[in-house]
Amino acid sequence: MEKRIAILGAGESGCGAAVLADKLGFDVFVSDFGSIADKYKQMLDDHNIEWEEKQHTEDKILSAQEIIKSPGIPNEAPIVQKAREAGIPIISEIEFAGRYTNAKMICITGSNGKTTTTSLIYHIFREAGLNVGLAGNIGKSLALQVAEGDKDYYIVELSSFQLDNMYEFRVNVAVLMNITPDHMDRYGYEMQNYVDAKFRILQNQQPDDAFIYWSDDPIITREIEKYTHGKLYPFAENKENGLAAYTENEKIIFTEPTPFNMEQEELALTGKHNLYNSMAAGISANVAGIRNETIKEALSSFTGVEHRLEKVADINGVEYINDSKATNVNSCWYALQSMKKKTILILGGKDKGNDYSEIADLVKEKCCGLIFLGADNSKLHNFFAGYGLPIADVKSMQDCIKAASEMAHEGETVLLSPCCASFDLFKSYEDRGEQFKAEVIKLK
Ligand code: ADP
Repeated sequence: MEKRIAILGAGESGCGAAVLADKLGFDVFVSDFGSIADKYKQMLDDHNIEWEEKQHTEDKILSAQEIIKSPGIPNEAPIVQKAREAGIPIISEIEFAGRYTNAKMICITGSNGKTTTTSLIYHIFREAGLNVGLAGNIGKSLALQVAEGDKDYYIVELSSFQLDNMYEFRVNVAVLMNITPDHMDRYGYEMQNYVDAKFRILQNQQPDDAFIYWSDDPIITREIEKYTHGKLYPFAENKENGLAAYTENEKIIFTEPTPFNMEQEELALTGKHNLYNSMAAGISANVAGIRNETIKEALSSFTGVEHRLEKVADINGVEYINDSKATNVNSCWYALQSMKKKTILILGGKDKGNDYSEIADLVKEKCCGLIFLGADNSKLHNFFAGYGLPIADVKSMQDCIKAASEMAHEGETVLLSPCCASFDLFKSYEDRGEQFKAEVIKLK
């Protein structure tokens, strides 16, 4: 009998996995408890793959020999619990796709900087003329690319949720940017569970694989002994023995495997966090044997990623910056830290167990106003009430930009860097960022 594979969640990763499983001759069933976007229905229909939406038909799912779960579905979902009780293996789309390709896997994880670093690495590999695919949490299915024309390299952004359901997948070059609290609601409010998930990126590494990491991160350095099998390529801002990259006299010094330097000011992306992202990307390319000149040129020509410290417009001398992707407190910290002018900070949304004390000093130092944009702003009011800053409380982007434009004076910056997920008022962080940009442009 054909092996039956059930796929939970019919978004980019679920549908990609379905197409690959179908191509391989499995009996495939796709089930989504919500509604499925038209483009994905079309994709499934084009391949004659059976699907359902707004329900989970248990006997069709629990009769599968293996289940591929989309990363957005929590382990607590009743259907996932039942599958576990029935002893059916549950894997991620990345795990599944990895079985059917021999491509080299360059995988990036961390609490912040994943998408930027993944995009930077992909840009360098493309500039080097390699046959490379971009995949994972960044919004492109690995399985679909494996099904439709395999590549020699994949640059894969991995979230902790994807790593949770990875078991045998081997990462040839692993990049771990940092670990700070995020998604605590899905890890039982236990930081170690989240840390362990991140380190799964190393679980199948062999001695000739590479592990690139930020060596000033206290959690990474505390945990590293437990997990590493490959060759280590640490990077940090200040020179130390054994670093694969550091800065000295305004230059980035890459030491391994091939030594070379580049001027820091040649980097396309600015801010301290982007220095780290650029170092990680440069080392990844260096490890892959890409020419130094190509790496330098590509790190200078990269054009940035939407919704990450994206400059939107200058209106009456006020600069508006969209950092909607800052969905946790640490990424807002980096955004505030890179602000050169007095800043009106827009924050709020769906709180994931945030501790705002991390940004308290920077708010005092850099902010001249706060705007709380969320369905329930009470936690923000309680925390920031005593700061003596003007505060506006809004529940739509329209009101938010109105409040910001009234509050801001010439020479100041309005920064959307909300520390929170967007789902209370918006469809996604992209939707939040798009609405921000649209309302700002209306001020012109
Ligand atoms: P991720 O994919 O991990 O969410 P992104 O590259 O999309 O990360 O960046 C999200 C936000 O995090 C950015 O807008 C920026 O404010 C912040 N950020 C980016 N890189 C880093 C880094 N290396 N360390 C800390 N914060 C960062």
